[in-house]
Amino acid sequence: MHELTLLYGVVDKVGKVCEENGLDHVDAIVIEVGEATSVIPEFLQDGYEVISDDYDFLRGSELIIEKVTAVGLCRECGTEFPIVVNKGFCPKCGSFDKDVIDGTDFFIKEVRVRES
Ligand SMILES: [Zn+2]
Repeated sequence: MHELTLLYGVVDKVGKVCEENGLDHVDAIVIEVGEATSVIPEFLQDGYEVISDDYDFLRGSELIIEKVTAVGLCRECGTEFPIVVNKGFCPKCGSFDKDVIDGTDFFIKEVRVRES
């Protein structure tokens, strides 16, 4: 389950952000997960609940996952289309030959800290 590896990467980065900004606790981490990645958001969420308890600066915080639609650009006719709902086929010409132009990223978008 590579979601755990990704989570530890997130924890590591957020830990550094905290250190650099003198924060001792975060309230929420917002991450963007593209549909074209192999990351399963539910696994991330479950894993986070387990992992976050092990770190003082994360305890009780929330992981907010924003899914980004995978977008394909048809190599035959140049149409941009959402890949998943079209099962990978161009809705205009029916081609399966495409470049994935969005939804391939996994990154930390925001670290939220309660105003005090
Ligand atoms: Zn097409």
